Amino acid sequence: MDPNTLRINGRRLRESLETMARFGATPGGGVQRLTLSDEDRQARDQFVQWLKELDLTVTIDEMGNIFGLRPGKDNSLPPVLSGSHIDSQPKGGRFDGILGVMGPLEALRTLHENQVETLRPIAIVDWTNEEGSRFAPAMVASGVWAGALDKQWVYDRTDINGKRFEDELVRIGYKGDIPAKAWPVQAYYEYHIEQGPILEREGITIGAPKGILCLHWYDIYLEGEANQVGPTPMEGRHDALCAAAEMILKVNELPERMGGNMVATVGEIQNYPNSRNIIPDKVHFTVDIRSWDDDLALRAWDDLRTDCEAIAARRGCPIRIEETWRVEHSPFDEGLVKRVLANAEALGYSSLRMVSGAGHDASYMNQIAPTAMIFVPSIGGRSHVEVENTTWEDCEAGANVLLHCLLQSANEPQA
Ligand SMILES: [Zn+2]
Repeated sequence: MDPNTLRINGRRLRESLETMARFGATPGGGVQRLTLSDEDRQARDQFVQWLKELDLTVTIDEMGNIFGLRPGKDNSLPPVLSGSHIDSQPKGGRFDGILGVMGPLEALRTLHENQVETLRPIAIVDWTNEEGSRFAPAMVASGVWAGALDKQWVYDRTDINGKRFEDELVRIGYKGDIPAKAWPVQAYYEYHIEQGPILEREGITIGAPKGILCLHWYDIYLEGEANQVGPTPMEGRHDALCAAAEMILKVNELPERMGGNMVATVGEIQNYPNSRNIIPDKVHFTVDIRSWDDDLALRAWDDLRTDCEAIAARRGCPIRIEETWRVEHSPFDEGLVKRVLANAEALGYSSLRMVSGAGHDASYMNQIAPTAMIFVPSIGGRSHVEVENTTWEDCEAGANVLLHCLLQSANEPQA
């Protein structure tokens, strides 16, 4: 048969996504499948079973990354790789991550049932802990695999209950013995929902991001002085929460101050002792800064840091700042981005060049292999929420683009 006429099975893709949505399903129609939780394990077990049904070679590495390899005609050539993540945010949606695992699975099922051979092997991957919401930071397992992060450092990360990453990996039975170490990859494709409003607003089906914004994470800890709220006069208080409040607004104003092309967010805060009649004496909050321009983000942080230190000094609340995580902006491989656009056109889908505001495992993969992503619209631009949604037609369209990108990369001879 002519491989150009191949199409994935949209109904089967939908069934796979619906099956996965049952693991950690929330009453609000989303999923809560935190990394290394029981729900994560259930979804992994299902995924592994599906890989085995396709006769793929399944390997699990020491970070819990799950790979399924489909042989090619020449298995000495580097494989083409595609994947994303099975874990979700707390009260997350049914498409973030999992679409990029079920999409390549559906593409491989299509090749399998049509007995299509490729020159190179094709592999599919589920990266552990993409979200970073239970164990910060995010994308740690692709980071270790790509050589950007230290394995032991990740193993020792703890969740809010003090549970260690490595212990939880062992507990759910997914600490494999294969080293988490990159092998040569011909091309890496990550299929994902856009998680923003642009494709829907423009009425476009396929997004081809030119790359991912840089991402800087900080943790700020403030100390105040606790006291009974009634008898303590307003003057002379050291209220850590008030100091934090001033700083949070500085974060919000930062992008405009820097002239745009940036977003900055405080998304998490802990206040202690969190009692209505005690002046707060300990606050922790997070800062997230993203831009296409790494230098601009660093200059913004310098300004913000100066402001926060001044606020802390004025309010008499000692401040401690941790620079938790930095990923530089990642421009994707231009040849692969063009391939995504060309396949969208050949399949009759509208398409758009854009950037990715969200971080993805593709950031780390981009450091070691030619990388591109395929985006489909998020209804209402909503993601990391239970109402996150994408039409089944768009899910199918993106998987068809992925299928043909995989086929073309997997048939490239050795340069
Ligand atoms: Zn994701």
